Amino acid sequence: MHEIKANLYECFHCKGEGTCTSGENSSSCAACIKRNDLKGKTFYGLLCGSCGGIGQAEPLTERMNKRLAPMLAIVLVVALLFLIFWAALSESTHFSELLAFSSAIIGSVVGFYFSGKGGST
Ligand SMILES: [Zn+2]
Ligand SMILES: [Zn+2]
Repeated sequence: MHEIKANLYECFHCKGEGTCTSGENSSSCAACIKRNDLKGKTFYGLLCGSCGGIGQAEPLTERMNKRLAPMLAIVLVVALLFLIFWAALSESTHFSELLAFSSAIIGSVVGFYFSGKGGST
């Protein structure tokens, strides 16, 4: 069993080496040559393009989560706004509750994403 650190796994592409040897005769593969912005056919010991040369990479799901979280927040806010809008239009008896509920969520989401990035205002 390997020692598992945080959320990193050993890079599949370079097998944890950090350099790409997946081409012919242990040369670096075309994909990594491209990632290193090199023009040519054969290179040896190039930085692994998959993990950036550290030999370890984040699981794909982890990366997806990081990218998905802001997306989900936006979708959630938009969905809630539509819900409020719909409730207002249909004169729902739950409108005030819905508004309070939604504004609390929207407030926390917006606060979370903009308080850190906004800086001093
Ligand atoms: Zn790698
Ligand atoms: Zn490669």
